Amino acid sequence: MRSKFTIPAILICIAIFWFPLRATSQDPANKSGKIRGFIYHKFGQESQYPSTSISTELFEKHLQYLKQNNYTVLTLGKALERLHSPKPLPEKTAVLTMDDGYKSIKTHALPLLEKYGYQATIFVATSHVGGNNYLSWEELQALREKGFEIGNHSHSHSHFVNYDPDRRIKMFKQDLEKSQQLFRENLNKTVELYAYPFGEYCPGMQRILRKQGYRAAMAQRSGVIHKKSDQFALPRFPMNQYYGKMEKFREKIGMYPLGVTEVDPQNPVLRDQKQPEFTLAVQNNRLNPGGLQCFLDGERNCTVEAREKNASMLLRVQADRELDSRRTTFTVTAPSREGDEWFWHSRVLIMPEYGE
Ligand SMILES: [Zn+2]
Repeated sequence: MRSKFTIPAILICIAIFWFPLRATSQDPANKSGKIRGFIYHKFGQESQYPSTSISTELFEKHLQYLKQNNYTVLTLGKALERLHSPKPLPEKTAVLTMDDGYKSIKTHALPLLEKYGYQATIFVATSHVGGNNYLSWEELQALREKGFEIGNHSHSHSHFVNYDPDRRIKMFKQDLEKSQQLFRENLNKTVELYAYPFGEYCPGMQRILRKQGYRAAMAQRSGVIHKKSDQFALPRFPMNQYYGKMEKFREKIGMYPLGVTEVDPQNPVLRDQKQPEFTLAVQNNRLNPGGLQCFLDGERNCTVEAREKNASMLLRVQADRELDSRRTTFTVTAPSREGDEWFWHSRVLIMPEYGE
């Protein structure tokens, strides 16, 4: 039976726990200092490629929404520069990223982006450039001249994590070298931003990018970028004909970062671990821990437990079932104490097929 002391005891604990936190201002989930990023692939080919394409009509609705709601749309490089500068970012800042460098960026998205006066960051896989359906180097250069930003999406667009760590790192380095050489030859520029093919990475790959002078790298996990986000696994909300529906777009753009400052274990690549668990260190003095929820690929198949750790909160996340796909997304959400905001963090765990 529940003790009559339970509720007062909980309230006292919450009071002790929250008051010191409320006094700290360095909260990564605070109102300024966040970027809502989106990832698109193809435009106007949604009947053929529903998971990677969005109709021009729906894409224009996104742009209209950003305009009508006074969003500042920046390239990723500019947004990150502002995020880490003393001058605060506009409270509503969005970044549009496009992976793979498909031709439809020029034929379908560009006219709309020009109409609304926005630029995007395009991550290209250099072995694809100039191929059927892909932008050419000349077209990429022309986009750069219009203010678009070009980032590296690898040379070969490989599943690097399929290889054992030593071989993986060797391949990744060679691939980076090849792509950088092509960027230099064709755009006369060394690129500084990276997006992992398929969003798959490991800490070793992150270290290589850091060593080679990259400023940041994007994963393919949904969420809001904040000052303490892992700079080499930045989140962005995926957009296609389904996830891009206006009610979903409005929901995502209204999200706040959960305020995760550390993830343990850091490596998202699993080895013989079918029902994984991990912890998230969270700094967020507006979060209501009673409203925490965990989703595994959109369904309530995971558990999240919160406990206090020093001045932050530690969330233990565990899968309630065995994972059965190559990539599985864990999403943790919680409302603010006032109930007027939602916090969001997601993480993708990868079960590679070794020895491909
Ligand atoms: Zn890609």
